[in-house]
Amino acid sequence: MIDPVCIISHNSTEPSSLVEVVFQIVDKKFNIYFKSDENTLLSGNAEAFLACALLPSMKMGGGQIVTKGEVSHKFLSALSTIQDIYCTWQPSFKRTEITGISTLKHPPSSQKRVGAFFTGGVDSFYTFLKHHDEITDLIFAYGLDIKLKDTVLRKKVSKKIHEIASEFGKNVIEIETNALELFDFYVNWGKLGHGAALAAIGHLLSPSFHRIYIPSSYTYSHLFPWGSHPILDPLWSSETLEFIHDGCEATRVEKVALLSKYDIALHSLRVCWTNPYSVYNCGKCEKCIRTMINLKINNALNRCTTFSEELDIKQVKKIVANTEGTRAFIQENLDALEKNNGDEKLRKALIYVLNKPDMPHLKRFRRKIKNHIKQIWKRIF
Ligand SMILES: [Zn+2]
Repeated sequence: MIDPVCIISHNSTEPSSLVEVVFQIVDKKFNIYFKSDENTLLSGNAEAFLACALLPSMKMGGGQIVTKGEVSHKFLSALSTIQDIYCTWQPSFKRTEITGISTLKHPPSSQKRVGAFFTGGVDSFYTFLKHHDEITDLIFAYGLDIKLKDTVLRKKVSKKIHEIASEFGKNVIEIETNALELFDFYVNWGKLGHGAALAAIGHLLSPSFHRIYIPSSYTYSHLFPWGSHPILDPLWSSETLEFIHDGCEATRVEKVALLSKYDIALHSLRVCWTNPYSVYNCGKCEKCIRTMINLKINNALNRCTTFSEELDIKQVKKIVANTEGTRAFIQENLDALEKNNGDEKLRKALIYVLNKPDMPHLKRFRRKIKNHIKQIWKRIF
């Protein structure tokens, strides 16, 4: 008999604007909620809850996930491949079994609505603009890249997303969730977790949608283990809801080329992931700087009103390209500059960033000295 590693408890029967679920992972309980605006009903279904429970369970040794209800046959079959993928990406993960459920072959969906996850960033703008004829709803999940306590930033972002939707005659769905508490406790959000969380939100919305776009982060030429991935995202689909991982054909420079044709995009683009003091874009973090480079290459930086500062070459040189993803983005910018005979100072700065040695030992040593001085300072005063 395999021990349960995760027990899922919920009382969701009818669609509601609030879905609450308890995940007991070994001996730790997580009370997770998903809340929508009052016009949007969420369906608390087993697909959504399994998408949340899978990675924590695999991390904690596999075993069994015990839940109840009916699960799409297509979704359940694909969970095996999803686990294969995660086991190769994360060899310490163990496969898990799902018990307590029955499978159901849903008929194809008659729903006509098409959603796209939307943050106001480069990837989500690109996917939306590319498919705006088809997309009916922008889905903004609050509590994932924007922390729940940052209500000021939420208001700013929500206002902008409603302006964008209004310009194109689209609907906005806002979902608030604390699901990050569960994911963050067990897995790296970027490298492994965020796609599963988006899949969970998608399934909560499944009664209303037959297709949901998940904007890509990377191109087909730069693929590596990442929580939202072209081989992974479609596997979260059911008979009634299709997930499409979109945008791998375009670099971020090319994505910005499309969005820079739209004033509304240049007046609402949001990419910052540090957001000090709830600012929309700080203009200083790595993601802000490399997006400002994307905009500069497309002669659109001075028209983009969500960056208040000029691009500073000194800040560019400070970028630490020590991950596969950051190196890919820097290389994309460099390739585009070289192709277009762009700014020579900027080109040299990007070459400098790609070639400067990553010195983790030196960084650790500096950190140690800093902490040591802090301790001495505390003792004296
Ligand atoms: Zn920033």
